[in-house]
Amino acid sequence: MVCPCQNKSDEKAKAYSDCCEPLHLGLIKTVTAEQLMRSRYSAFYLGLGQYIYNTHYPGFRGNANVEDYQASAENTTWCRLEILNSQTTGNAGIVEFKAYFIEKDKLHCLHEISNFVLDNEQWFYTDGNYQPKKVEKIYRNDPCPCQSGLKAKKCHLA
Ligand SMILES: [Zn+2]
Ligand SMILES: [Zn+2]
Repeated sequence: MVCPCQNKSDEKAKAYSDCCEPLHLGLIKTVTAEQLMRSRYSAFYLGLGQYIYNTHYPGFRGNANVEDYQASAENTTWCRLEILNSQTTGNAGIVEFKAYFIEKDKLHCLHEISNFVLDNEQWFYTDGNYQPKKVEKIYRNDPCPCQSGLKAKKCHLA
């Protein structure tokens, strides 16, 4: 299975087992803020509420519990991640990204500049600044926005 975060090495899509899975299983730690961001996106994509909860820095979760993260992940059809910019200064990281999700026949683009903190050799998400959200209609015969190469009706709109 291709990793949902659509990371590439040498132009080839990385396999989930070589990308976010070892992070989700707790076998390795994230080395960069971008890696953590990608693994959180993949966790949202796959509905791994516990991982999303664990990687949200304590003190920034509000009243949300694991079930809330799980429900949020399961209720959203994520389809594509674009990393626009990422940088790290000491224990702080910033990642700007666009994450796309589908609701009925509409493609929503979540554009966020997220903040991350490195604590005890582990990266965590803290909070983010949302940019204006964009919504566009998906036509069933158009290429699927996830860039699978399939028509939308054979892919995420199936
Ligand atoms: Zn990945
Ligand atoms: Zn698709």
